[in-house]
Amino acid sequence: MEKEKILSIRDLSISFKTSSGRVNAIRGVDLDLYRGETLAIVGESGSGKSVTMKAAMGILSNNGEVNSGSINFTYYRDGEKVEVDILKLTKKEMRKRINGKRIAMIFQDPMTSLNPTMTIGAQIVEGMIWHYKTPKKEAYKRAIELLELVGINDAEKRIKNYPHQLSGGMRQRVVIAIALACNPDLLICDEPTTALDVTIQAKILELIKDIQKKMNISVIYITHDLGVVAKVADYVSVMYAGKIVEKGTVDEVFYDPRHPYTWGLLSAMPDLETKDDKLYTIPGTPPNLASEVKGDPFAPRNIYALNIDNRLEPPMFKITDTHYAATWLLHEKAPKVEMPVELRNRIDRMLKEAHQDAK
Ligand code: ADP
Ligand code: MG
Repeated sequence: MEKEKILSIRDLSISFKTSSGRVNAIRGVDLDLYRGETLAIVGESGSGKSVTMKAAMGILSNNGEVNSGSINFTYYRDGEKVEVDILKLTKKEMRKRINGKRIAMIFQDPMTSLNPTMTIGAQIVEGMIWHYKTPKKEAYKRAIELLELVGINDAEKRIKNYPHQLSGGMRQRVVIAIALACNPDLLICDEPTTALDVTIQAKILELIKDIQKKMNISVIYITHDLGVVAKVADYVSVMYAGKIVEKGTVDEVFYDPRHPYTWGLLSAMPDLETKDDKLYTIPGTPPNLASEVKGDPFAPRNIYALNIDNRLEPPMFKITDTHYAATWLLHEKAPKVEMPVELRNRIDRMLKEAHQDAK
């Protein structure tokens, strides 16, 4: 069966007006997602992950400006295929047609997405009533089902609770129930488990994966935790300084990463085998995007940098039909450089473990 593209971002550039000038936060991002599949977007803090997804939700902050690009989203209305460029819709149209209904988003901190003055039941039914005019009684019945689906016991009682009466893990489950209430086609999870402790993190990820299968929704995970990516994603895009610098299937990016930045991110993953808790961090810091980018912005942090890196920003080099990386090291005339042996071993251990978990 032909895969159906649900989200297609092309050449997206976004800048912010700030007191210290214009920050070019997103610099030509391309991204595709197919129905039912999972994409992970990884990268250090500030690389542009959240801003890209906020643009897809039409919720950029007021000082943000889209300088180029398109965000095409495909959905069905009464069985008929509809394709829209999200960037061409007004905020009002987004609220009416897309947000919460077709695309739902889960943020890192459940407290910021829940209303402390409303019961969780009222918050779950809100979208159903607003988007579909579902009768109140029916909506509450569905809300109870949703709470059960996300693994909350005593749903009938819980529905009358306020957010502060729930634990952090339960709150995030409620946020997921709210996100699912209108049967979205796309669920965007922005660091959905970072605020939770490790065992609850794993449970929430498992839950999202389960529900995704049941409802055939597409999921985008924003995370800096590559361990998570190996467990849940089909595809990975690695962001650095407002650009995607490597993308591919999970296997391609994990078994055969090509960008030294990706090597760095992978090296920074905790190694459960050796219980080595002295985590590697990539030396240096990301560039200041308020000034003009000259050459490869990763070059100052890259021990394999070439002369050309100081002059020209590398294009995306093709490795396979699905695997691309933006580093001059992939140029045919570049010296052959392999990832560090220690990293190779580490990755192999991690993959072995992820595959065991999946069984
Ligand atoms: P992350 O990858 O951590 O999610 P973001 O997408 O949040 O990163 O941010 C990308 C860049 O855009 C950062 O440099 C950040 O400082 C900048 N940025 C995000 N939102 C704003 C804003 N409202 N005003 C100014 N700069 C912003
Ligand atoms: Mg973010």
